[in-house]
Amino acid sequence: MRGQTNPYLELAAPGIGALNPYLPGKPISELERELGISHSIKLASNENPLGVSDKVIEAIANCSPELSRYPDGGAFQLRQRLAEKHGVDPGCITLGNGSNDVLDMVARVFLSPGVESLFSQYAFAVYPISSQAAGAKLVIAPAREYGHDLDRMLQLVTPRTRVIWIANPNNPTGTWLARDELLDFLTQLPDHLILVLDEAYIEYVQQSDYPDGTAWLSRFPNLIVTRTFSKAYGLASLRVGYGISNPDLADLLNRVRQPFNVNTPAQSAALAALQDQAFIQRSIALNNRGMQQYRQGFERLGLEAIPSVANFVTVDFAEEASRIDRALLSEGCITRPIANYGLPNHLRISIGLEEENDRLLATLAKVLKPRFRS
Ligand SMILES: *Cc1c(COP(=O)(O)O)cnc(C)c1O
Repeated sequence: MRGQTNPYLELAAPGIGALNPYLPGKPISELERELGISHSIKLASNENPLGVSDKVIEAIANCSPELSRYPDGGAFQLRQRLAEKHGVDPGCITLGNGSNDVLDMVARVFLSPGVESLFSQYAFAVYPISSQAAGAKLVIAPAREYGHDLDRMLQLVTPRTRVIWIANPNNPTGTWLARDELLDFLTQLPDHLILVLDEAYIEYVQQSDYPDGTAWLSRFPNLIVTRTFSKAYGLASLRVGYGISNPDLADLLNRVRQPFNVNTPAQSAALAALQDQAFIQRSIALNNRGMQQYRQGFERLGLEAIPSVANFVTVDFAEEASRIDRALLSEGCITRPIANYGLPNHLRISIGLEEENDRLLATLAKVLKPRFRS
């Protein structure tokens, strides 16, 4: 039903015809249904392998009496709590149904036919999708060593640039930008555009010169920082994320926000999750150990990975990637093919529990042809 064959395409808004839908990681239930297997592992969507904090489970159970009521559309408590966390006014917080929703609000508010949306090659898939849906022209800066080339991005800024999107660290590459280079970039940007700094994986980053973008909000009023509860906080299925920006930008985002975009269990779960920072610390420690395990394991297998600071690693399988993907699936291991990102030779592999990482590495050893082994 896509492209020329769809008779309704001419009725659709500009941009829709060239739109490619987001390709999510394969759900475990789907793989098991297709192959008639059980005990699969999913290392495809950068989810928290520890699940969620016990406090979250309790908070969601306590929501049962509220399920027939509309949620608090303004999410008073959660916005209050997030404002405290970031040392800003609650009017600076825009809640989303996942941070994806906030990114989409940015596109709907600031992008339209005739303006440009600028991001890097290998940037997060939502940037082109939301930009294209809004009818903007996509301007893609070639990457440098799989990461952002900020000089190239600056060169591509024009008077029509409205939104620049940067994920730090980036998905699907795991690459990151240091404080100095990003600050230097910010200071050189003209003020007729919005810079979105997507910090979905910030909790995992260990590097001391990695910047927390919220520190720059008062200095750069055209900055929107986005965060999510989907990754380290483990709430991917509940869909909660947020933007932090100056209140004038938040006001515009709020105008296109669906009134009840964050449901009651999600609001309660996010509040509870924020209270359990010990869970976050355990999640980070597990991720650090898993990263070591993968580094050593990939090296043993003679595989090259893009250096990552997040909770996933993107590995080069050369022309074998899609065969390896299928072989892993048949062994019950779901990883993420990223040909749709222009990386057909790589698979993105999330860091799981120690035993899941072991199983992934052992399965790789089994399915790799000998030339990959050192
Ligand atoms: C996972 C991810 C998000 C978060 O998506 P949610 O909608 O909050 O679940 C945002 N940006 C990047 C780069 C991501 O990888």
